[in-house]
Amino acid sequence: MIVTNAKVYTQNDAMPKAEAFAVEDGKFVCVGSNEEVRQWAADHAKTMEELDLDGKFIMPGIIDSHTHIAMSAFMGGDDDDDEFPMYDCKSKAEILEKLKDLVKKHPFRVFYAMFYGQIEALADDPLTRDDLDKIVRFRPVVLMESECHSAILNSAALRYFKIREDTPDIAPGLSRYDRDENGRLTGFITEMTMVPILASQTPSEKELRFGITKLLSYLISRGVTTIFDAGNMTEEDLIFRTFKAMDQEGKIPVRMFMCHMLWHPDMVPSAIEKFKKYKAKYETDNIRFETMKMMFDGTQRIHTACMIEPYADTGTCGGTLISEPELLEFMRALNHEGIDFHLHTVGEAAMRKVMNCVERLQAEGEEENGEPFRITVTCAHDEVICLEDINRFKELGIVANFTPSWNGGNCGSEPENMQRLLGQERGLCTLQSRTVFDTGAVVSFSSDEVELHNLNRWSPFWGMEVGMTRQDPDFGEPLEDGAPDGRTAPIYPPVDERLTLSQLIKGYTINGAKQLGIDDRLGSIEVGKDADFLVLAENLFEVDPYRLHEVVPERVYIKGKVQSIV
Ligand SMILES: [Zn+2]
Repeated sequence: MIVTNAKVYTQNDAMPKAEAFAVEDGKFVCVGSNEEVRQWAADHAKTMEELDLDGKFIMPGIIDSHTHIAMSAFMGGDDDDDEFPMYDCKSKAEILEKLKDLVKKHPFRVFYAMFYGQIEALADDPLTRDDLDKIVRFRPVVLMESECHSAILNSAALRYFKIREDTPDIAPGLSRYDRDENGRLTGFITEMTMVPILASQTPSEKELRFGITKLLSYLISRGVTTIFDAGNMTEEDLIFRTFKAMDQEGKIPVRMFMCHMLWHPDMVPSAIEKFKKYKAKYETDNIRFETMKMMFDGTQRIHTACMIEPYADTGTCGGTLISEPELLEFMRALNHEGIDFHLHTVGEAAMRKVMNCVERLQAEGEEENGEPFRITVTCAHDEVICLEDINRFKELGIVANFTPSWNGGNCGSEPENMQRLLGQERGLCTLQSRTVFDTGAVVSFSSDEVELHNLNRWSPFWGMEVGMTRQDPDFGEPLEDGAPDGRTAPIYPPVDERLTLSQLIKGYTINGAKQLGIDDRLGSIEVGKDADFLVLAENLFEVDPYRLHEVVPERVYIKGKVQSIV
């Protein structure tokens, strides 16, 4: 096939723009002007189908370099209203009222698990096990926060999950069972203490397949052709087995990069062995295992992200899963095995520890007989970075992965709230993806979603809009037809962290390929690479930034084959 008369935005620095290209056996074999490509076809004396695109816009297939396809199947289907009855509740009283209704509606349930919106609704008046016990005493009730980093349990649920008054925290400051001044459990639990609860929500294989298919079809329809699945807290075998079976049935058209996720310090000693087992057992052409993932810290909103400067309201500093010396030792072992490393790092101290370890191992690699440092280390989220550390991504070659759809301040990161947690100044200076990008570091972009609840937010074009504007369409005045509109949404500070569209496209294509170590075969429209590309009716650079979230590619090609979009 040859494609002509297009505006090809290649992401190849040596030839940023082209008019045409030829594709053979799923790869780009010639990229250039119309004449060059037609000449190439003539020289090779092949009958080629010519696709005249009449000035349409072409860009490489998108790489979503951190998201959670399988985990979202654990978070409940979107068609069950009962799973999300408390989403918009603004206070403790409203949540308790909704719980009463739910119990009235389903009096014979043995287990009530549901999501509520955001913990900020409870900042002044926390909800405890005692409040829940007054409504349901003998059956477990679990209220999970929408972000899934914390939950509130009634006494029956604490018993059900065997959380006792003397159960130790998993990682101090990070994964903890909150206690009141008398040392009694309050029912509030954070981070990875929630894993048994998620495990209790394990979907059937059928539900898992439904969730995977639904998400993959949506993501492909929005131009995503390669995905890094940033991990699952439970049931890894079930999930990997399902992906492999689906791939063998031809139902995984995208490339999936999976990982083994570490969320408990006790998982670290056997992590590499387990990773190798997964790789040997479940790897296929489309499903690859190249990366270890670690939940290294938490989030600011529940004071679990690890800070250098303490939280303004509690004076605590959060925590990390393992200590810096333990991290160093583990990273050395990963480097020895050639396994890339992807870490959840939200707080400034979490990132600094990772940077220190990389610095140390690079220095060791330069010593005589030292083992060269060869793995890719990625810090994901990077919400609060110390000024002194900003240049270290570039200097140390650490990939910075950000989720642009957060740049409008969703998930309770409203400026007032951030100031309450982080102090006046630091609270207004988070999510600095532009500054990191401008240092010359490799910055990659992702959707990092875990819900089937609002598919729009998975779209890379939604991410591009919020990345460019720092305004979240969901927070603006809806248009007359009810469609979301970011124009009237508040601008999330600092305004000079707005990214350019060029940066966003780079972060969603070639930089994602660099993160995954596949930039020799993906991420740009370049001779020798896989022919993954998108055809768009409009030039992305001419689209009103506030309409970017509505962009849907006309056609999506993976390895030169057009994907049928349902
Ligand atoms: Zn994630």
